[in-house]
Amino acid sequence: MPENRNSPPRLDPRKPLVLDTRELGRRPGSMREVRFPAPAPEHLGIDLIGVPPGAEIELDLRLESVMEGVLVSGTATAPLVGECGRCLEPIRDSLTVDLQELFAYPDSSTDATADEDEIARMEGDLLDLEPVLRDAVVLALPLTPLCREDCPGLCAGCGERLADLPEGHTHDAPDARWAGLQGLLGGTTGTERTDRSARTERTEEK
Ligand SMILES: [Zn+2]
Ligand SMILES: [Zn+2]
Repeated sequence: MPENRNSPPRLDPRKPLVLDTRELGRRPGSMREVRFPAPAPEHLGIDLIGVPPGAEIELDLRLESVMEGVLVSGTATAPLVGECGRCLEPIRDSLTVDLQELFAYPDSSTDATADEDEIARMEGDLLDLEPVLRDAVVLALPLTPLCREDCPGLCAGCGERLADLPEGHTHDAPDARWAGLQGLLGGTTGTERTDRSARTERTEEK
C-alpha cells in the first residue's frame, strides 16, 4: 500500500489513548483484544459532572481489521465526580460506556457519500481513541446529575439542603424587611435567587 508522504503521522504514539495497530496487521479478519488502563484527559465531562483529569480509565477493547480500516469496539470504565444539580452535594460514581468506531486507513477511499468530517481516520498505524471516548462519555452523562433520585434540593428560605433539615422545616414568618426588599426587586421569587447565587459562588471557588 502506498505511503502518504505528504502528511506524516501527527499523533504521538506515547499518548495513552493512542493505539498502535501495527501488530494487528491489515489483513481483513485479523483481531486483537487489548485491555489497559489510561489516565483521563482534561475536560472529560460536562459542567456538573465528569471524569477527573488523570483518573484511571479502564479500557477493554477489541480491534478488528476490516476492508476499510480498523474497527474498535469495547468498553471504557471511569470514575466520576461531580455535584448534585439540585443540592450541590458532591457525587462520586463510576461510568461504563460502550465504544464502537471504524477508523479508516489514511489512504482508503471510504464511501463517497460519507461526510469526510464524520470519518475517524488513522494516521499511519496509529489511531486516537480520545475523541471517541469523549463523545461516548459526554453522551452518557446526565445533564442534571443528582445525589439521589428524589433529592429535594435546597430550602428556598435558608439555602440549606432540605434532606438535612427536619421534616416540616419552613420559614412561615418572613422578616418584614425581607418582604419589603422582595417588593422592590419585583416579581422574582426567592427560590430562583437562592439557586442562582448558590451556583455563582461555586463557580467562583474554582
Ligand atoms: Zn442532591
Ligand atoms: Zn430553610
